[in-house]
Amino acid sequence: LQSGVERLGDMIARAKTIVPFTGAGISTECGIPDFRSPGGIWTRNRPIQFEEFVASQEARDESWRRRFAMEEVFAAARPGRGHRALAALHRAGKIPAVITQNIDNLHQASGFAADRGIELHGNTTYARCIGCGQVYQLDWVKRRFEADGAAPNCTECDEPVKTATISFGQAMPEDEMQRATELSQACDLFIAIGSSLVVWPAAGFPMMAKNSGARLVIINREPTEQDEIADLVIHHDIGEALGPFVGN
Ligand code: NAD
Repeated sequence: LQSGVERLGDMIARAKTIVPFTGAGISTECGIPDFRSPGGIWTRNRPIQFEEFVASQEARDESWRRRFAMEEVFAAARPGRGHRALAALHRAGKIPAVITQNIDNLHQASGFAADRGIELHGNTTYARCIGCGQVYQLDWVKRRFEADGAAPNCTECDEPVKTATISFGQAMPEDEMQRATELSQACDLFIAIGSSLVVWPAAGFPMMAKNSGARLVIINREPTEQDEIADLVIHHDIGEALGPFVGN
């Protein structure tokens, strides 16, 4: 770990523009389980596809029940060492924005403005109508669910209300994809942190950065399919690896 952190420190010091790309692994120390580790969310629940959510009230009810079951976990989570290290490098002017697959709002909570935390898979801390895009607070959804015994529809257009996340089968957000592409192509150091790099198209950004001339670092406890194209791979705990960069 020591030599990896030293090499990373050296690469960070030399870089002009660093773009981090984060996955669920950066938030496990904040108490939010990832998807694919043992004990991860998928070892318990099959994901509900977007098509099912749209088609079935039962699927919507189940989806919201799962979200409410995670309520305390998301509400109690605070930024970890990884989030804080990235926020420190952001304040220092090294990181223009972070690209994240996470939906937990923790980059924003650590100091990235809303437009500097690029959420490829949306955000689970609020809800939206899938028809007109109207935003709803989770409390409102919960009250309606409890009153009616079923997941609510939009008060404006009567389409289903869903957490503001991107489900499997749902279109990727165009602006976010565009901005992530520009950042990946313009940086000179790209750091993939806590992602198994198997969810596409998000997993394409490390290679895009590499192909555009950036150096690529991967920090993840387990090996990933893209380790072989990286300039530096750190197979350790993220909090340990990025802790030295948290600063004061
Ligand atoms: P993933 O679960 O597929 O992979 C997480 C990776 O992080 C694993 O390879 C694991 O070995 C590693 N990891 C976990 N804790 C670590 C730690 N402390 N130190 C080092 N490595 C650690 O997650 P993914 O690649 O982000 O893809 C899953 C999808 O799940 C994403 O698209 C995201 O939308 C969603 N998701 C988000 C959250 C969140 O917002 N926190 C949580 C679970 C899933």
